[in-house]
Amino acid sequence: MKKRPVLYIIYILLAVFLVGCAKAESDQAKAQSVANEPVQKASVLIETPEAQKPLEAERTDSDAPDVEDDGYQTRIIAGETIKWDGFRAIEPKDDWDIWSMVLSDVGPFFEEEFEVEKSSYKLMEGQITETEVLQIHSPNPGPLVYIVGAVHGDERAAWYAALLLKQASISCGDLYILVPANANGARNLTRYVVKNQDLNRSFPGEPSGDEAEQLAYAIFRDIAGKRPELVLDLHEAIVLTQDRDFLGSTYIFTELDGMEDLFFELLVATEEGRICHNEFGFTGPGPAGSVNAEVTRNLRIPVITVETFRGFDIGRRVYDQLDTIQFVLEYMGMR
Ligand SMILES: [Zn+2]
Repeated sequence: MKKRPVLYIIYILLAVFLVGCAKAESDQAKAQSVANEPVQKASVLIETPEAQKPLEAERTDSDAPDVEDDGYQTRIIAGETIKWDGFRAIEPKDDWDIWSMVLSDVGPFFEEEFEVEKSSYKLMEGQITETEVLQIHSPNPGPLVYIVGAVHGDERAAWYAALLLKQASISCGDLYILVPANANGARNLTRYVVKNQDLNRSFPGEPSGDEAEQLAYAIFRDIAGKRPELVLDLHEAIVLTQDRDFLGSTYIFTELDGMEDLFFELLVATEEGRICHNEFGFTGPGPAGSVNAEVTRNLRIPVITVETFRGFDIGRRVYDQLDTIQFVLEYMGMR
């Protein structure tokens, strides 16, 4: 695929800077191989430039996994002991009732309140895929940011964080929150829309296509109509195998188109421990048909995909999602 030379230069400078920072902090810094969405085939990613490969500050994985009494193996990821079945992490059980929760149950998020108007509208009304977009509008002019939560219905931290975000306010601009983007998948706690239709391989969508393509089309059109400065696309990763790259704690971009500084500051903030529970890596481009790739390429709107890791407990994951969103909105002057 074509890439503009100037972006290559930015990627390389970004990578060189990060390698320098990581090396200074830890000699164990190693380049992690190219990653993508958990079901992404590795072959799609061959063209990813070297400079875009994510960095791993510390090699924390244990080399020889132990086998537990319940049959699951364990590994250590970012200081946490994770159960896994040799392919996927085993999501820790929890008793969260997200519908009765408020932002402060998760952490000190969006505490200062501003005067805003909130209104909502539906996408795919009357369909199995019907969902809702909330607009949070400040009377003060400012940036427009669009948040897409739960394109995959089983990625609960992405869904929960966007749901809780509806309680927030902003000091200027407009915040659009689409959650759950894949309402039918969220209802059934599955990745797919129906059958094996993957919404994140269905963009930019097709008005007469299958359920996922129609939904993708409606979302794509909505984003195109709003023309946000930035889209944040919230996801989670679960695959943990040597055959595929580990995507947990990763930010993904295709092209950043003016959001390079924000992306860099976000990575540094996780590296310095100012936000999130552990350092986040980065990778790209997003897979063909994803929100990340198609919104970036077709609409020239930068998209940052947030991937938390489903091997961690739900509180940590939702916290890291909200911490990332709050950082971005503060950076853009909306908080
Ligand atoms: Zn996902």
